[in-house]
This record gives sequence, C-alpha cells and structure tokens, in this order.
Amino acid sequence: MKPATNSSPDSGALVLFSGGQDSATCLAWALERYGHVETVGFGYGQRHAVEMQARDSVRAAIVAAFPDWAAKLGEDHVVDLSGYGAVAESALTAERAIEWTADGLPTTFVPGRNLVFLTVAAALARRRGLPVLIGGMCETDYSGYPDCRRETIDAMQTALSLGLGAPVRIETPLMRLSKAQTWALAHDLGGGALVEIILEKTHTCYRGERETLHDWGYGCGACPACELRARGLREWRVQAGAKAAP
Ligand code: ZN
Repeated sequence: MKPATNSSPDSGALVLFSGGQDSATCLAWALERYGHVETVGFGYGQRHAVEMQARDSVRAAIVAAFPDWAAKLGEDHVVDLSGYGAVAESALTAERAIEWTADGLPTTFVPGRNLVFLTVAAALARRRGLPVLIGGMCETDYSGYPDCRRETIDAMQTALSLGLGAPVRIETPLMRLSKAQTWALAHDLGGGALVEIILEKTHTCYRGERETLHDWGYGCGACPACELRARGLREWRVQAGAKAAP
C-alpha cells in the first residue's frame, strides 16, 4: 500500500511529543502545516518525570504565545508503556552509566523504542482520524540509534500501512538537519518567541537536571544530550548573528 500523499491543511496530524527540543520543533512545524494537531507522549519508566512535565509547559507556552496555533492544537494523549520499559531496560529507563557499548551503540539506546512508539501512535492516530504521524527522529548529529534512520521509518511506514489496512504517512522534518539547523527551523517557524519557549521549557538532559538555566536551557551540561544541545545552539547563534538569537 502506498503512503498517503494528501497533505491538505485541513487534514490532521499526530505529533510524537516527548517534551524535548526536537519534538517541540516538530510540534510547531505541524501546527504551521496542518489544520488539526494532536500530541502523544509515552511513559515507559523513564527515570525522569521531568520530561513528561516539560510536555505540559511547552504546550501551554505555545498556546499562550501563538493564538493561530492554539486554535489548531487538539488533545494530548499519554500512553503508559511501562511494560515495554521493563523489557527494554537501558540507561534511560534504569540507573546505568551513560557510555558507549562494544557494539557501537550508546547505553541510552532503548531497543525498538521508535518501532513501539510508532506502532502505538499509528493505532491512536487511526482511532482519532489523523492520517499523518510526525516524529523528531534525526540521523544527522547522532547516528547511534538505528531506529532513528529514515530507512527504518520508511519500513515502518510500509508495515503500518499494510498492517492497519490504511495509508499511514510518517513525516520526519528534522531527519537531515543538524542541531543548529533545528534551532534555525524553530526561529523560522515562530521567531524569537518560539526559540525562547524551546530554550526554557523543553527538556533533553539524560540526567534529568533542571536546577540551573544555562544560555542553552536547563541540564547537567555534561551528558551527550546536553553537549549536543549546547553545541547546536552555539553554532546557530554564530550562523544567525547575535541579532537573531535571544
Ligand atoms: Zn545533561
């Protein structure tokens, strides 16, 4: 079965929304393009409930700052996948050190995570009448995760379309972007106000640190996610010039 090709502005989309920088940018991207946008988040025994709280604050801040987008933003869904989390135990879901393993994957890799998320999201989207799934998977900066590659997403799109008996399209607007380009995209979509929201409200730190607000947001500053986020923002600010940056 061929993927859906209808991207009329009236059609709806479901954004896989974790409360991090990438999925928040995807949410804005979706709100700019689609007439109705819903969000889904997954609880799978993450160590950090802080990520789930960030989801609510990002949504609320977007509603407050962007009335046009607020009119299109629909329900938020939270799905409990703690049973899966128990099976797929890794540094994100258990107290293990964040490092690289012998097979070349970071210990933060949760086996099959995006496959499970996309399957559950597709079932939800089908029930909600939303033909498009949108996710922040990215293979540019951080190719350690095989389930973030477009090749995997294409295969999932085919499998889900066949298995659900209806066309499913999975859009990954950040797939080829660097972190600096993701900040630039956020600025294109919502200007300094959106950059500010993503900077202050989203959460990406693997350690769940939210005590200190750095000029790149909250985080420990030392884990791979913080390093990537800080470096990306620094690069974007250099590229954009001091004027565009907040
Ligand atoms: Zn960190």
